[in-house]
Amino acid sequence: MKGSLTKATARRTSPTKTAATKMVMIGWAIAQTIMIGTPAIAQTPRDPLSYSQLLKKIDAGEVTKVEIDEAQKVARVKLEGQKPNDPLVEVPLLERNPELIERLRANKVNFDSQPTADNSALMGIVANLLLFVLVIAGLLMILRRSTNSSGGPGQAMSFGKSRARFQMEAKTGVMFDDVAGIEEAKEELQEVVTFLKKPERFTAVGARIPKGVLLIGPPGTGKTLLAKAIAGEAGVPFFSISGSEFVEMFVGVGASRVRDLFKKAKENAPCIVFIDEIDAVGRQRGTGIGGGNDEREQTLNQLLTEMDGFEGNTGIIIIAATNRPDVLDSALLRPGRFDRQVQVDLPNYKGRLRILEVHARNKKLSSEVSLETVARRTPGFSGADLANLLNEAAILTARRRKDEITALEIDDAIDRITIGLTLTPLLDSKKKRLIAYHEIGHALLMTLLKNSDPLNKVTIIPRSGGIGGFAQQAFNEDMIDSGLYTRSWMTDRITMSLGGRAAEEEIFGESEVTAGASGDIRAVADLAREMVTRYGMSDLGLIALEGSSSGEVFLGRGLSPRSEYSEEVATQIDEQVRAIAMQCYAQARLLIRENRALVDRLVEMLLEQETIEGEQFRAIVADYCEVGQPANVVG
Ligand code: ADP
Ligand code: ZN
Ligand code: MG
Repeated sequence: MKGSLTKATARRTSPTKTAATKMVMIGWAIAQTIMIGTPAIAQTPRDPLSYSQLLKKIDAGEVTKVEIDEAQKVARVKLEGQKPNDPLVEVPLLERNPELIERLRANKVNFDSQPTADNSALMGIVANLLLFVLVIAGLLMILRRSTNSSGGPGQAMSFGKSRARFQMEAKTGVMFDDVAGIEEAKEELQEVVTFLKKPERFTAVGARIPKGVLLIGPPGTGKTLLAKAIAGEAGVPFFSISGSEFVEMFVGVGASRVRDLFKKAKENAPCIVFIDEIDAVGRQRGTGIGGGNDEREQTLNQLLTEMDGFEGNTGIIIIAATNRPDVLDSALLRPGRFDRQVQVDLPNYKGRLRILEVHARNKKLSSEVSLETVARRTPGFSGADLANLLNEAAILTARRRKDEITALEIDDAIDRITIGLTLTPLLDSKKKRLIAYHEIGHALLMTLLKNSDPLNKVTIIPRSGGIGGFAQQAFNEDMIDSGLYTRSWMTDRITMSLGGRAAEEEIFGESEVTAGASGDIRAVADLAREMVTRYGMSDLGLIALEGSSSGEVFLGRGLSPRSEYSEEVATQIDEQVRAIAMQCYAQARLLIRENRALVDRLVEMLLEQETIEGEQFRAIVADYCEVGQPANVVG
């Protein structure tokens, strides 16, 4: 099974790569100028002459010699009274110049036509060679810099330093209305807008306006958007930089960038300074491998100095974003720095609905589409995922030449985002058969287990990312609404997750099982662990052995790695986890074995039609069970 809750995150390009690209660009630009400049250096024209002036001068007999250069489309002209060593005058020629030759003949002027195509081709080669040399030189320079970066600020190349890497937006155009589903964060930040708009109100009563706000939350939850909305609502400029851009390979650049940034901000106060990914600079000092990263520490120190250096009422408010508050240097969190912290969480059902509504504003949705249903089907999605979902659906709609987005496009877009792009079906029949048994194993257990969420569809059409097929569940709306996941729901989920492997082993034998179930097994281990350590659902009893992690694992989030118990307890936990998994696996295998005929029939059908929808699947199972098979024995 492949859960429908995993999402991919995109990474930004590394600073090294950007710098290299920059070098290449610069090299290219230089080569271009040389290429354009070369002919001019060879023969500097004196007073320029136009084509018609040239014709006149020929008629007047003022021209002694003309060299026509076809390739460059110029005529080099020697005029009456020019000294022999004087440069020739260049006259740009038209596409065709029949009358020029005529007049030259008529006036008996000495002329010469030379197609200098060879010459220019040679020049092209020279220019290309030059470009090549420059690129290599640039790359060598980068290599040298990065291997020898402890050279002190004086050695840093000036182009790295002078380029301001922060962006400024005079008007962000984003309002609080554009940010949805994170009402608490919005409320807290509403006050910041007032600080910027009416600082007197606070300073009059002696209140110190906070300097820094730290937004904490996973990627795509709208932290950048919120910061922009604050600037937008307050009508102040928005300066932004990413923490990773501070930390370059050039020593001293980070600190100077911080200085530049704050200098500009002070000139433009009141304003918002937004530092994205502050953890890239703001990590606990002195923890790096090999004595830490000097460059980063210098940058961080500069940032702290700057923050201390201005008074709270200068009208600059610094907003920083991170999803790793735990790694931040404690100096950053002291009063007078980022003393306000606002949590920006993944949206719940209501939040998702609001966000979908915001992004549906400018889209043409068919009236039959219910955003409520979409919101229910997308637990674990961030705001950015939801925005992306509607956009994907719109793209699919355009591709299918429809006028409005229907539920079909939305469904496909959800699959695309959560599972991957559809690929062409497999031809290899043995592998296909194995995948079919695996997925039917999941699908059948979803249908037979009483507390399991029902099957939405099962397919063996492969998806990008190495997915051979999947069985997908429809979400149980009540469960998601209430957030009350019961013990039996969890056990059934574990059993169902093991259904793929169970089918493989029942049908093909122990030696034939594949690595295809590794994801399933991982998910099982995580959930079983949660049951033991957080929910007290094992023989270890009602103890919470681990603090609340950022969320439930079955919503696609990781466990906090902290453990505050002894070796002995750890062993006990492992035993309990194993017991749960083994018990569920045994049940999964039993169900597959008892319904072997049904499994075979479903596999044949899946191989034939490649996808079975939930409805059809349940009908077949119900049909089979009426014949008296023990499908309802499961508790
Ligand atoms: P973060 O900075 O937390 O990683 P962003 O603010 O960059 O996330 O969000 C990326 C995009 O996702 C936004 O431009 C917006 O289109 C959408 N988005 C994210 N969260 C929300 C939200 N709460 N409301 C509306 N749109 C959102
Ligand atoms: Zn599986
Ligand atoms: Mg962001």
